[in-house]
Amino acid sequence: MPHVLITNDDGVHSPGLLALAQALRQIGQVSILAPDRNWSVTGHNKTLHKPLRVWPVTLEDGSQALTTDGGPSDSVALALMGVIEQPIDLVVSGVNTRPNLGDDITYSGTVAAAMEGAIFGIPSMAISQEEGDPRYWETAARAAVIIARQMLANGGIPRGTLLNVNIPNLPWEALQGFQVTRLGQRRYHDELVVRRDPGGRPYYWIGGGPPSSVLEPGTDVYALAHGNVSITPLSLDMTHDAFLDTLRRWFEGD
Ligand code: MN
Repeated sequence: MPHVLITNDDGVHSPGLLALAQALRQIGQVSILAPDRNWSVTGHNKTLHKPLRVWPVTLEDGSQALTTDGGPSDSVALALMGVIEQPIDLVVSGVNTRPNLGDDITYSGTVAAAMEGAIFGIPSMAISQEEGDPRYWETAARAAVIIARQMLANGGIPRGTLLNVNIPNLPWEALQGFQVTRLGQRRYHDELVVRRDPGGRPYYWIGGGPPSSVLEPGTDVYALAHGNVSITPLSLDMTHDAFLDTLRRWFEGD
């Protein structure tokens, strides 16, 4: 029976994590180790400057989980380095409360946790869902089960890769299908808000609305906008191969 590690960046009590855990119990043994609070948009962290605590918690459905004062990628590292004793076959991070599309992945704690799994050589995926009211967590959880089954049945995914999955907030019957995609482009609308503290010194908020997307066919943003589950393979090797030769000419000569 495969052993699945679940984590997230929204905190161990997020309803998205609970939905994922309940669904993935269909395919294997589930262990949970996730942060004790919201770490969204913290990227790929590693806590080296302070000790990390791990303690048990009971989730809303009465099931047991572990939580930590570390971050999402700390959670995966702790689990894989021995806090969870039995070997892990699959790391699943999510279900995040917002999509992680295009450049979002560089900020995402959800994706960072899956990256950590990939660094340890374990098949890993990040699961994120569109926002909306009502929330169809069970759609995301059901899609995650299908993708997890494929990953396990096919002996994992290539070393150094992970899957970034985004799921529409729709009832299951309303899904268009599954599409394998490239990363698209996000447009951020950040605005610098300047205020003054009581001493007159400025302080700053990075404010502004949520990002919008460039709707190019074949991308994650396009697939999601058209009601599809988007599956993007990511590589830990971020080398831009096509630029190597030009850069060599610049610095190494012909
Ligand atoms: Mn989050």
